[in-house]
Amino acid sequence: MPQVADLASLQEHDDLLARLGEELADARAQLADDAALRAAEEAAGAADERCAALEREQRRLEGEIDALGERIAREEGRLYGGGAGLPKELAGLQREVASLKARRSRIEDDGIAALDGIEEAQAARERARAVLEGERAAMAEKRARLGAAASALEGDMARANGERERYRARIDGALLARYDDLRRRKGGVAVARMRGDVCGACRVNVPPAARKRTLDPESPALCPNCERMLAGV
Ligand SMILES: [Zn+2]
Repeated sequence: MPQVADLASLQEHDDLLARLGEELADARAQLADDAALRAAEEAAGAADERCAALEREQRRLEGEIDALGERIAREEGRLYGGGAGLPKELAGLQREVASLKARRSRIEDDGIAALDGIEEAQAARERARAVLEGERAAMAEKRARLGAAASALEGDMARANGERERYRARIDGALLARYDDLRRRKGGVAVARMRGDVCGACRVNVPPAARKRTLDPESPALCPNCERMLAGV
């Protein structure tokens, strides 16, 4: 195949490889991004901890209420069982029982208020767990989808790379060196297709004399403006 056509094909394969490489990098970056899942895990963990703390506090209050109940029963036993004889002692016991009952009543109020808090925290925990489940499912779906896409891209790249090597092997060494040098200096584009009378890369009109030189299939003409190699349409 003529050298200019091979150079143009080589350019197409280098463009394709660059595009596939970007798509693959993008798929891999998306695969690595688990920020939403980690945030959901943290939120669910915090909701669990909050529930556990409130439930512990509830059990502590219940324990206190039980202990006070036992003390009240004991003191009332002494009060009504004739354990205390003197009126002064009786009055003291009555005050003690009243004070214990008032304390128990306050703690019971605290316990009722705490129950509301627990219900709220449990509802928040359920919501956080549902969000976490959703994120886990989304992550599994994403891994399956992007994993397959990345494998397909790797296959495409391997094929494009094989083609690219085939073209490189056919192109004259000096031309290939010029091609590589131009690609380095010109943003990856060494060969520009003619678009009518203009250079497909820089869009500047190519004068007739240079246009005529593009008809030579073995030696590429250069764009007088951007100096890239020109290939026919
Ligand atoms: Zn140009």
